[in-house]
Amino acid sequence: MTFTRRPDGELLIEEVSTSDLAARFGTPLYAYSRAGIESAWHAFDRALASRPHLICYALKANSNLAVLNLLSRLGSGFDIVSSGELARVQAAGCDVSKVVFSGVGKSSDEMATALEAGIKCFNVESLNEIDVLASVAQAHGVVAPVSVRINPDVDAGTHPYISTGLKENKFGIDTTAAIDAYRKIADSQHLEVLGMDFHIGSQLTEIAPYQDALRRLLLLCDQLQDQGIKISHLDLGGGQGIRYRDEQPIDLTSWAAAINEVLGDRDVEIIVEPGRSIVGNAGILLTEVRYLKHTADKNFAIVDAAMNDLIRPAMYDAHHDIVPVIEPAVGTPVAPIDIVGPVCESGDTFTKQRAMPPVADGEMIAFRSAGAYGAVMSSEYNSRPMIPEVLVDGDQFAVIRPRPTFDEMLNRDKLPEWMQD
Ligand SMILES: *Cc1c(COP(=O)(O)O)cnc(C)c1O
Repeated sequence: MTFTRRPDGELLIEEVSTSDLAARFGTPLYAYSRAGIESAWHAFDRALASRPHLICYALKANSNLAVLNLLSRLGSGFDIVSSGELARVQAAGCDVSKVVFSGVGKSSDEMATALEAGIKCFNVESLNEIDVLASVAQAHGVVAPVSVRINPDVDAGTHPYISTGLKENKFGIDTTAAIDAYRKIADSQHLEVLGMDFHIGSQLTEIAPYQDALRRLLLLCDQLQDQGIKISHLDLGGGQGIRYRDEQPIDLTSWAAAINEVLGDRDVEIIVEPGRSIVGNAGILLTEVRYLKHTADKNFAIVDAAMNDLIRPAMYDAHHDIVPVIEPAVGTPVAPIDIVGPVCESGDTFTKQRAMPPVADGEMIAFRSAGAYGAVMSSEYNSRPMIPEVLVDGDQFAVIRPRPTFDEMLNRDKLPEWMQD
């Protein structure tokens, strides 16, 4: 089990005491369970076992090199969205031939770097991007492997910020323009048709939108087949939701069965690009209560983590379960409390009126499900150093990104030469 409680109520991550981690490395800090990440990856691998498949972990969810390295050891591929992410994949020793490159705004430099590295596929999102990729490939004397991201116009029934499969948003090429896009690729000497992809949203809890999207792609595949264009892989994107509160996450076995039902006996490799569902539930953010503050109307706990460390509540109004590191006695009454950070912004609020057992000054609490879109979205706003990340593996643990010193932070700024007097 990834997270358990000792008989005395202390929260453990694998076999490691979270209070120990906090005492050793200081708070706030992120801690990830290796077993948690690996078991989430294996769940995809098992679900897709009946077909040729490749899991391309979307590293924007958590791109720490240690996380990439451990996934690479399992045989994972990777979904990147920038050449910075490509550099991470390479630095972590991952197999670049299992990399797919997503994103609506790739630069020609990014394309060139990825072509030289020898990635598996470019997931293109517009006709103009196809032209640019063709000229970059020509300049490098190579043929670029291409998949077209289709906007299947399905309503993923999810949050407006993160729903990406509707025709009014910026992602992909709609089904009517797709045939032209594939003709363009097939007609270019510098491009090669490899696959077709979609990514319809994030934190999805329904299987049906994946089936709807896939059906639309298969219609396109058939039309292309008639024109002699063969699609070798179908990339179903990521987006599988996790449990933050009471969501019922997609069961991957049922999901794969539903996908297989739509696919029938088609001979095609399946690619998936899960991000959140691989790392989300494997991580926590540990923070200490600095001050309790009682006003006429409200109780506040001011903690040492802030919106710059975990922005999801401020940005998406996202819910994270918040639990005391030492579990209170059974039957301890709960009372509503606002949990806020020290940053001078009203948005620096993790939760409002959360029913919690009483917490004390100096007490340690944990934000659950913080492994995805946590550390990667953090900043140094208020000149708060990026918080450390720790990886736990059984009874071992190691810092996989240390807290920077103030010198390291400040040395990135430079005075112009003409101000150095
Ligand atoms: C963000 C993204 C993913 C991963 O999404 P999750 O919701 O984290 O699984 C996969 N593919 C593409 C193209 C993305 O933009």
